Amino acid sequence: MEESRIILCPYCNAEIYSDAKKCKHCGEWVNKEGETLPDDIKHFNWGAFLLNWIWGIMHGKYITLVYFLACLIPVIGPLAISIWFGLVGNKWAWNAKNWESIEEFNQTQRNWVKLWIILFVLGLIISAKIFLILFLISNINV
Ligand SMILES: [Zn+2]
Repeated sequence: MEESRIILCPYCNAEIYSDAKKCKHCGEWVNKEGETLPDDIKHFNWGAFLLNWIWGIMHGKYITLVYFLACLIPVIGPLAISIWFGLVGNKWAWNAKNWESIEEFNQTQRNWVKLWIILFVLGLIISAKIFLILFLISNINV
C-alpha cells in the first residue's frame, strides 16, 4: 500500500496529499475523473457485492437494478451479478462522488459492509420472531 505523500498543487503550489483528488486550498481538481484508478482502491467492493442495487442507487448507478432481472435465474443470476458489482464497484463509486481522499473513500465503502451486517442481523431477528409467532399460532390450533 502506497502511503500518501505531501506534494505541491500544480495550480497554486500549496502543500496537498498525493492521494487528494481536489486541492483543499484552491479547489482545483488535481486528479481528474476517469483517470486510472489509484492502486489503493483496486480491490473488491464488498458493499456493492452484498447490498447490490441499494448500494447502486445510492451511488447513482441505476444499472444495478438489472439485479432484479438476474433474479429470474435462480441463485446463479444474483450471485454472478453481485460478483460483477463487487469487481467494478470501486471504479463506479470512485467516479460517482468527489472524494476528498482514498482514506475517506475506503472508510465510506467499509461503512456499506457494516450497514449490510446491521441489516442482516435485523433480518435474522425479524425472521426469528416471525418463526416464533407462527410456531405459537400453530400450537394454539392444535
Ligand atoms: Zn491548489
